[in-house]
Amino acid sequence: MVKRSKGGFAEKVAKSSVDLKIHCPVCGEAIEVVKYISTINSPENNAMRFKEKMIKVCKCNRSEFYK
Ligand SMILES: [Zn+2]
Repeated sequence: MVKRSKGGFAEKVAKSSVDLKIHCPVCGEAIEVVKYISTINSPENNAMRFKEKMIKVCKCNRSEFYK
């Protein structure tokens, strides 16, 4: 007869999802860091240039980047 004791060896759930996210002090949402690429047209040589930057997106400014 096998006696199962509850909590005998409680499996410790490894916290693999470490919360590294920064939360916005304004809206409280987790700030996403996204690579934002904007295209710039230069009329001089008729070429398109790409300008990329890292932006921090949260509820406050999401509408500026996601339309
Ligand atoms: Zn915010």
